[in-house]
Amino acid sequence: MGGDAKAGLQPGHHVPGLKGKIAVVIYGAPRSDRPDFFPTAASAVYSDTLEKSRRLAAAGAVAMVVVFNPALEKHLPFSFSARQAAFESMVWKEGTAPGSGYALPGVRMPSAMLQRLLAKTGRSAERIFSDGLAGKLKPFPLGMKAHLRTSYAVREFTSENAVGILRSGPQSVVITAHLDHLGIGAPINGDTIYNGAVDNATGVSSAIEVARAFAALPKRPPRSILVVGVTGEEKGLQGSEYFAHHPTVSIDSIVANVNIDVVNTWWRPYDIVAEGAEHSSIQRDVDAALKVLGLKQSPDPEPEQVFFIRSDQYSFVKQGIPSVHASSGWQGANGDSEKNKATADWWTRNRYHQPSDEWDPKGDYEAMAVETRVDFLVALSLALDPDRPRWNDGDVFGKIFARR
Ligand SMILES: [Zn+2]
Repeated sequence: MGGDAKAGLQPGHHVPGLKGKIAVVIYGAPRSDRPDFFPTAASAVYSDTLEKSRRLAAAGAVAMVVVFNPALEKHLPFSFSARQAAFESMVWKEGTAPGSGYALPGVRMPSAMLQRLLAKTGRSAERIFSDGLAGKLKPFPLGMKAHLRTSYAVREFTSENAVGILRSGPQSVVITAHLDHLGIGAPINGDTIYNGAVDNATGVSSAIEVARAFAALPKRPPRSILVVGVTGEEKGLQGSEYFAHHPTVSIDSIVANVNIDVVNTWWRPYDIVAEGAEHSSIQRDVDAALKVLGLKQSPDPEPEQVFFIRSDQYSFVKQGIPSVHASSGWQGANGDSEKNKATADWWTRNRYHQPSDEWDPKGDYEAMAVETRVDFLVALSLALDPDRPRWNDGDVFGKIFARR
């Protein structure tokens, strides 16, 4: 088999001539703040490795090798993927349905190894990565053969979403928080239990508190509130994708999703990053909530991480439903963000998806309450608004996924 490199999928771009080939792709998609360039939203959509695997399979590729840009590899090192890959993966029993996993066998390769794959091409890995980000990379053959052997055991099991409803009118706002984590895995410092206290017991507790706050209102808002604990988020958004395809109410009656995943237990928030809000009228609901709480809104400080497609809100976005995931920004009391950024980076390196993501009695649980109030007020505003939330005119997510 020959190797072909492929990166920088453009919307509607056809992937040519990959029959029988192993495709080497760069994780993510080109991005820039330039408005005339591949827009951030489209970049997010085409960053989706699942979607890439489907396009590559449709073009005839037989396997996929994913390489991370070295800058992103600092946040998500190869060892992170290696650890994650040691856990069982999970797909729906309805094997060919959307959300049922990668269309191809895929492996991740450390970025430092790309140069060796390029040996016969005379190209530099550094240039490939910079061209990839700039959207200048075109497919080219690597001129080498590779053999890839995969084997796996399959077992059937059931994993439930948990759904609660506060009934009011026929339309609903859906609050989600994923209730799964990784389970039992390879020991780190002798500990094999991956607790997921922050990721995502914090989200589930916040969702329950949001439900409690709605239940305590003297009068129900006109829209119903669905609170869904979704399973299999860590296995590729499986539970939310399933719910978005088989909702317990009609899909057209769901007007918005507020997703809660990893709540800040580290510092008192002064600013909030509302992923996805800028694409739809949900921005107004966020404005209203932040005004009440005296918080500022900040742009996503890490757009290269494309968090918007990495949690359960994206399953709803793909069904055309405007969605938001709000989390604390990095700003501290003095307006400086260095200290909180360092804390966030520390947590990602030392706790994220590791057994050490454990209940911490020293956590700042008032910080968690602040974020939970944001989620509640955004959901309340969505539940009260006489107008249905809608995508902004011409928005890329709206255009790609809006329901007809
Ligand atoms: Zn996670």
